[in-house]
Amino acid sequence: MEIAIIAHDGMKAEMVQFLNKNKDILIQENIKLIATGTTGSKAEKAGFKVNKMLSGPIGGDAQIAARVAEGKTKMVLFFKDPMASHPHDADINMLIRVCDVHNVPLATNPATAELLLQAISQQS
Ligand code: PGA
Repeated sequence: MEIAIIAHDGMKAEMVQFLNKNKDILIQENIKLIATGTTGSKAEKAGFKVNKMLSGPIGGDAQIAARVAEGKTKMVLFFKDPMASHPHDADINMLIRVCDVHNVPLATNPATAELLLQAISQQS
């Protein structure tokens, strides 16, 4: 199962923490991670294997949205920073819309991401 991870700058440390905390589920459920560029680099440094797209502001969110639309990415865990503004707001909103169009589970904060991963592990 392919899951996308994206974290805005103020949330990247939290994303790495989240991955470490949920390492067992990621391995057991054979989850393949894809990520926007910088989020992916941080995850790689923490020891995770990640298929990296472009960095978010230069098209990474759009690339992930395309994979959602194509049915390749089955879940999106997006740690948005609600306290920062982003030059690529249009891309972010497009990704959220594409998830809704295709009924793909989308978490926009760590608490929801945690619940979604738990749901996956309970299903199997
Ligand atoms: P980044 O992109 O992981 O390349 O920083 C995230 C984003 O801002 O969408």
